Amino acid sequence: MQMYSETDVDTSMLEARQVTILGYGSQGRAHALNLKDSGFNVVVGLRPDGASWAKAKADGLNVQAPNEAVKGAAIVAFLTPDMVQKSLYESVVDDIDQGAALLFAHGFAIHYGQVVARADLDVILIAPKGPGGLVRRQYEEGHGVPCLVAVSQDATGNALQLALAYSAGIGGARAGVIETTFAEETETDLFGEQAVLCGGATELIVAGFETLVEAGYQPEVAYYEVMHELKLIVDLLHEGGLRKMYKFISDTAAWGDMISGPRVVDDGSRAAMKQVLTEIQDGTFARNWIAENEAGMPEFKRLMNTDLEHPIEKVGADLRSRMDWLEE
Ligand code: NAD
Ligand code: MG
Repeated sequence: MQMYSETDVDTSMLEARQVTILGYGSQGRAHALNLKDSGFNVVVGLRPDGASWAKAKADGLNVQAPNEAVKGAAIVAFLTPDMVQKSLYESVVDDIDQGAALLFAHGFAIHYGQVVARADLDVILIAPKGPGGLVRRQYEEGHGVPCLVAVSQDATGNALQLALAYSAGIGGARAGVIETTFAEETETDLFGEQAVLCGGATELIVAGFETLVEAGYQPEVAYYEVMHELKLIVDLLHEGGLRKMYKFISDTAAWGDMISGPRVVDDGSRAAMKQVLTEIQDGTFARNWIAENEAGMPEFKRLMNTDLEHPIEKVGADLRSRMDWLEE
């Protein structure tokens, strides 16, 4: 494993050069503000009629339309939703300087061939392992969120150094930057969110809730048990792995964990995980997701509505409104 830290980075190569951030959502806002506070020359590229324009202006940033914003940039960071990166690239490519770098925070558009970069451009990845809010907060507190770095096209011979300079500017190099490839970052990121972090975890919660409620237990008690308390466990895992969780839960909980966990996530679940990974690797997932976008996301909306109308949502909203110490 190759890990870079601040001492490995030469930020002088970005000094007095322009970094353009396209998009001002979760990652875009954090990267733009961190880079600006690190002393870089930041320009934000946004649609003049879009909702983020006023916000970026109010944050004190230099905001221009995408075609203007990319002119003169050493790095153009595509921090818009993955599904709009192809059309955005096609609309600005003729305004991007010779020898500039395209930067991504997730490898989807490059890995699945949605964006095929001009041959004179570097193509680099700096993927923070955390949401934008955390990237900003950690930076302000003098820390950083660890990042992955990758290069898929090194036209200038400087692509890796340029990516590392950017990672230092957003604070990531303070926490460590691990070298990867676009393929590894994209496939592991998609797998993680589908099988474990989002898809796996929410399905486990809802199935646990339904099991308790169908058995006649009160929905409120079930909610506290399988949704609310999950955070306490996740915090222990995040801070100190399995060892810290086992240290803080009761022996009864630990025993139940060890004998029952493998019966819930069993060989069938592992086979399903493997199938999910196969469909990410062979491009099936990407193809279907791109087609779903092109069709106007009908299935996305239908599935999302089903999730949001689940009884656990109603019970949860009522209970959370009584816990005023919870942040929305
Ligand atoms: P987001 O949805 O929070 O923000 C997208 C922004 O893009 C919007 O604020 C808008 O300003 C802009 N935008 C939308 N359509 C546009 C268009 N047609 N032209 C110009 N601008 C447009 O996005 P995000 O979650 O910050 O994701 C950005 C990138 O970062 C993605 O590649 C994503 O995979 C990656 N990423 C996200 C996270 C995360 O936690 N959210 C973590 C790591 C990597
Ligand atoms: Mg789900």
